[in-house]
Amino acid sequence: MREGHGIASIANAMLLCIALLAFACPQARASGVMVGTPLDPCVVRSQPDMTPRALFANPAVFDCMTKQSDLGPGDFWVISKPLDTIKSDGDRLRVRVASLWQQQITLHALYRDGTVRSWPLDGQAVSHHIQMGAIIEWRLPGNYGTPERLLWHVKGAANLRGVINGARLASSRESDRSNLKMGAIYAAFGGLCAALLVFNLALWAVLRHRFQLAYCALVLWLGAYALTSSAALAWLWPDIANNDRIRLNYLLLAGGAITALYFARVFFEHDVSKSWVAWINNLVSALLVCATTAIVLLTPSHIGLFDTLYSLCFAAILPLIVPIVWRARKQRSPHLWLFVLAWSVPLLFASVRVCANLGLVPWSFWIDNSTILAMAFEAIMSTLAIAYRIRLLSRERDEARAHELAARLLADTDPLTGLLNRRAFLSRAVQRGEEQTLLLADLDHFKMINETLGHDGGDEVLRVVARTLRGAVPGDALVARIGGEEFAIVQSRTSAVDPETLLARLRAARMPFDLTVTASIGSCTGSLRDDADWKRMYRLADRALYAAKSAGRDRVRQSSGLSAVA
Ligand code: GH3
Ligand code: MG
Ligand code: MG
Repeated sequence: MREGHGIASIANAMLLCIALLAFACPQARASGVMVGTPLDPCVVRSQPDMTPRALFANPAVFDCMTKQSDLGPGDFWVISKPLDTIKSDGDRLRVRVASLWQQQITLHALYRDGTVRSWPLDGQAVSHHIQMGAIIEWRLPGNYGTPERLLWHVKGAANLRGVINGARLASSRESDRSNLKMGAIYAAFGGLCAALLVFNLALWAVLRHRFQLAYCALVLWLGAYALTSSAALAWLWPDIANNDRIRLNYLLLAGGAITALYFARVFFEHDVSKSWVAWINNLVSALLVCATTAIVLLTPSHIGLFDTLYSLCFAAILPLIVPIVWRARKQRSPHLWLFVLAWSVPLLFASVRVCANLGLVPWSFWIDNSTILAMAFEAIMSTLAIAYRIRLLSRERDEARAHELAARLLADTDPLTGLLNRRAFLSRAVQRGEEQTLLLADLDHFKMINETLGHDGGDEVLRVVARTLRGAVPGDALVARIGGEEFAIVQSRTSAVDPETLLARLRAARMPFDLTVTASIGSCTGSLRDDADWKRMYRLADRALYAAKSAGRDRVRQSSGLSAVA
């Protein structure tokens, strides 16, 4: 099981959806930022002899029925409905339209006294007039009053989603409030992106999963996309041509989508996205790269074609998730439920958006900003998932530690007595340094004890002996059972317990059937710095033990070769 999947599964799903939702229109923000009164514009294709004054005089030439985008690319004139039908509070002087792909846009206003005033904006000048939510705004001078009618001349319109979208007349208060609201929302979105980025990078530093980096990249792409699509970029870079900003929208959104696809692939277990799923994944990503490259480098030529290809690639992304989820389910991926849970809300948002686009539910501010809502939901889900994962992780870690401890104990101890075994004793004894006393104790006539008590009784005697020895020596002494009925003790010479005391304790120990058990001890003192020291000490102590046995048992013999090891 890969750690941190939960965290990122949610993030992935959400952001993927957000990318799709955000794609709703890479060229223009929808009506949530469209404050003020709609101007119901009508359109006519530009002819060489057309002038603003003539068009104001003859509004019948405009077509109010045909969908603007059906007219294809080119130059157009667009006229508003008469403004005297708008209930004016004397301050409806902000003309707002959605930013679209166009070379130049000029606003003409017809005043009561018959004068026509014009405000042309080329690509760069548009950036100076752009508001939060990618709205182009003209502030009409107040001293002329409210115009009677407005007319736009749009040159080089791609007309993918209209020539003039969302044209409205707003008061300065409405406009400022809209900017403030959008500014707050995008600032919150930016903050969320920054927090997610830092958080997930920190998580990546600990967990080191590739999908966490993919997630961070996704956040970066979408954060940057929010910056360009909201037109906040125009504040940072006032001289950017508006069409270039739109090109950046396409680029950043595609980057986000491709990263999201990559994320979905590296997120689940490898098998989930192998073979044809990976193949289609690559194909869609490659096509999206081609479409985006074409849009960035070749437009305005064939912009409609490239935009359609771009849209088709995006439309293909959603179905691509289906086989991944299906396979994850088949392979019983433990992360699937989080993935599905994470998908549900963005899908709901997407559905509501589609319904709103079809006119089935009224468009609202919240639907318009559903991308940001989805992101906020994702952050909350991420936090919950992270808490859940951390709980699992800490439980796994505690269990692993307990296992490791148990395994180490098992490897180091003699199962019968719980003392150190020979191997553990050796490895610890040789590092003890100067002035150590080694005692080798061998029970006397143990064969007879076995014969008297049986093997189990003999085992019990060994356990009592082990307890007695352990209890008699200082805490820092090493006590081991190094053979059948042979024990070894290493203690610092300065705090060493006298072997005679040990023998006395053994004699006095309460044994099965009140048997008296004795031992012979060979003792030796010297330094224990390495294997050679150990071998020498052991040889001398063993010799002393043999001497104790030979001398009649139940006694201690010191090594006579002290000088040799000192
Ligand atoms: P000595 O005084 O010369 O040491 O005589 P001894 O009988 O103690 O020595 P010997 O080495 O001849 O016998 C040791 C016995 O210890 C033989 C073996 O059956 C017994 N023994 C070894 N390991 C265990 C064990 O784990 N449990 C029991 N119950 N007996 C053991
Ligand atoms: Mg023995
Ligand atoms: Mg013995």
